[in-house]
Amino acid sequence: MVIKKEQLEEINVLRSQVNQTIRPVAPELEKVLYQPFEVLDHGFVRVVDYMGNDAAVVQAARVSYGQGTKKVNADKGLINYLIAHRHTTPFEMCEIKFHIKLPIFIARQWIRHRTASVNEYSARYSIMEDEFYIPRAEHLSAQSKVNHQGRDESRVLNAEESKRVLEILKKDSVNAYDHYLEMINQNSAGEIADENKEGLARELARMNLPINCYTQWYWKIDLHNLMHFLALRADSHAQYEIRAYAEVMLDIVKKWVPHCYEAFEKYRRDGKELSGAAIEVIKKMVKGEEVTQENSGLSVREYNELMNLIK
Ligand SMILES: Cc1cc2nc3c(=O)[nH]c(=O)nc-3n(C[C@H](O)[C@H](O)[C@H](O)COP(=O)(O)OP(=O)(O)OC[C@H]3O[C@@H](n4cnc5c(N)ncnc54)[C@H](O)[C@@H]3O)c2cc1C
Repeated sequence: MVIKKEQLEEINVLRSQVNQTIRPVAPELEKVLYQPFEVLDHGFVRVVDYMGNDAAVVQAARVSYGQGTKKVNADKGLINYLIAHRHTTPFEMCEIKFHIKLPIFIARQWIRHRTASVNEYSARYSIMEDEFYIPRAEHLSAQSKVNHQGRDESRVLNAEESKRVLEILKKDSVNAYDHYLEMINQNSAGEIADENKEGLARELARMNLPINCYTQWYWKIDLHNLMHFLALRADSHAQYEIRAYAEVMLDIVKKWVPHCYEAFEKYRRDGKELSGAAIEVIKKMVKGEEVTQENSGLSVREYNELMNLIK
């Protein structure tokens, strides 16, 4: 189980407390507040707090004294307009705070998003847990021959090869963790292993742990920057493991701000930005002119990307 029994009990205590407020809330998000959504083998995403809802975006855009909302269609239209025309500040009026547990190598990609506030579990202060990301066999793919940055998800390793990879990952993780415990002079029950030894400081002993080890953080971000994060990390170019988190967070955004989510899907996820040259190619094709890569003014990559998009 991703969450320990005591942790679940603490979450349930919070979930059983109902507070009255005159602040605007997002009813669907309220239903899942604090609740962990499992990701990968030991990870999770849960919402610990939020501010604002769809109406807050509209209210800020109209700089209203009251709620600022009009008919649902008018509000949805305004949100669509704001997203389509990159009028971003109204979306910064909504904030959300997540608690996320993730493998360290994914945290390294995640932390590149500088527009969030982060507080991470301290491995100087606390003992790292015996939890390592071991991918499922179907995610063990070969290096892509086209995209040098990632795997080719259509070329999964054969059973024998993936069995060996999993053996290596598990064995090395256990080995590294056993050595970590030995260095800090602890046994697996969390007690001092040898009374006659000092044990190395946790801040040093952790250096031997692999990057598939899990860490945790609180991560607070506004809706504008969250959508930017999700546009990049829920995208097919992002690594599967961070995408798995982004997909869960997209569902959360849908519960929190359904109109913004719809506009995001329409203009960011399903929409594409085109260069001037690409638009010229489309115009020529609409007129029935013959366009080839050679006469398009686009590079081979640009041309192929455009054709994949429109054909
Ligand atoms: C598929 C993929 C592959 C990647 N590969 C690599 C890689 O190989 N190597 C690598 O190093 N990184 C890589 N990255 C990380 C990438 O380059 C960005 O660092 C990361 O996506 C964060 O994006 P961001 O800066 O737009 O986001 P944020 O840090 O959240 O910033 C949001 C926006 O705020 C503005 N902003 C924030 N801080 C500043 C600043 N200091 N100055 C100016 N403007 C700022 C920018 O407009 C920025 O777009 C990759 C990312 C993706 C999605």
